[in-house]
Amino acid sequence: MKRVVQKFGGTSVGTLERIQATADIVERSVRAGIETAVVVSAMSGETNRLIGLAKALCEDANEREMDQLVSTGEQVSAALLAIELQKRGVIAHSYTGVQAGFRTDSSFSRARIMSVECDRMLERIGSGEVPILTGFQGVNEQGDVTTLGRGGSDTSAVALAIALKADVCDIFTDVDGVYTTDPRIVPAASKIDRISFEEMLEMASQGAKVLQNRSVELAMRYQMPIHLRSSFVDVPGTMVMNEDDIMERAAITGVAYNRDEAKITIKGIPDHPGIASALFGPIAEAGLNVDVIVQNVSEDGTTDITFTVPRSDYRQAMKIVQGICAEMKARDVKGDDNVAKVSVIGVGMRSHSGVASKMFATLATRGINIQMITTSEIKITVVLEEQHVNEAVKALHSAFGLDSEVIAA
Ligand code: ASP
Ligand code: MG
Repeated sequence: MKRVVQKFGGTSVGTLERIQATADIVERSVRAGIETAVVVSAMSGETNRLIGLAKALCEDANEREMDQLVSTGEQVSAALLAIELQKRGVIAHSYTGVQAGFRTDSSFSRARIMSVECDRMLERIGSGEVPILTGFQGVNEQGDVTTLGRGGSDTSAVALAIALKADVCDIFTDVDGVYTTDPRIVPAASKIDRISFEEMLEMASQGAKVLQNRSVELAMRYQMPIHLRSSFVDVPGTMVMNEDDIMERAAITGVAYNRDEAKITIKGIPDHPGIASALFGPIAEAGLNVDVIVQNVSEDGTTDITFTVPRSDYRQAMKIVQGICAEMKARDVKGDDNVAKVSVIGVGMRSHSGVASKMFATLATRGINIQMITTSEIKITVVLEEQHVNEAVKALHSAFGLDSEVIAA
């Protein structure tokens, strides 16, 4: 017998009509003889609404109370879905994270799952019931409710699928899969049938946000396939799965971009051991995320370092760097918050050569200047002026043969 976990995001339970449509999907699965467990998000907009209420009272509300508050959103949608399913004669009951045995650490608002004690859920499924779990939440050692960070229901679903040894974790959302690039920029982008966990993580960190990253990391560790699909149209979505189970491979799987970037350059900083640490230590302590880093070869005993940060961290990073550089007597500090990243991603890169040179040539013919380059085993990223993003993405998508045959009119 097959066993699945079906997760429904906020838009899939956003109204009573959507809850009924979701119940259709669950019911179909149950009637097909598949053991089905469900995880739901809060109705769309509800988590933000709850946060807004607290913020209106107090800007820095107590974090335990915040989790107690925002976890209620999922309880509403889970119970409503159970009510709708029961009406149809499907045996279904809703459970909170506490009731379902989701044990977490105590980091309120960003808790990590320590274990899923799923005996009760297994017993319920065994008796023919559909358990409907509130995503996004758990309970710490003290018995207090915790939440897993925004978008955390994805992670709840994957954790449950692993604990229940499900065959697959279906994640239903309002898009029908992962695309080769953003269809708003390239209408000829197409849905990817199969993508590896690693590629999915790279696509997400480069801007293609569909799943909470932690859910993909967890799925990768336990080799739990995720079927990302739409609850609005009944078509196959994208399978996120083990690389070895994907047969044919093009050189590139997708092109991603991120406009939310800024660049800081330090010129003429003394070149001796400890410089990078002195510079990046305080930036990390301030909780700022550094991404691409390039350091020049040293001439005359000094060197140049350039790095990128998210645009929202730019001002704060600049301030820290200016302080350190004054102390170290660096020659100059320059910033530019008008940059963006474009990446080509694909495990096929491991076996296809010439991907980097093709990427650079494609940009060169269009007169697009590359400011920085960084690579991993399955990704090449360039930093360029933001105004070139659309042109670069289009050109690369086409150069790597990703444009679909049917070109939209
Ligand atoms: N309701 C939570 C949020 O809006 C968790 C989720 O939807 O995954 O972030
Ligand atoms: Mg989500």
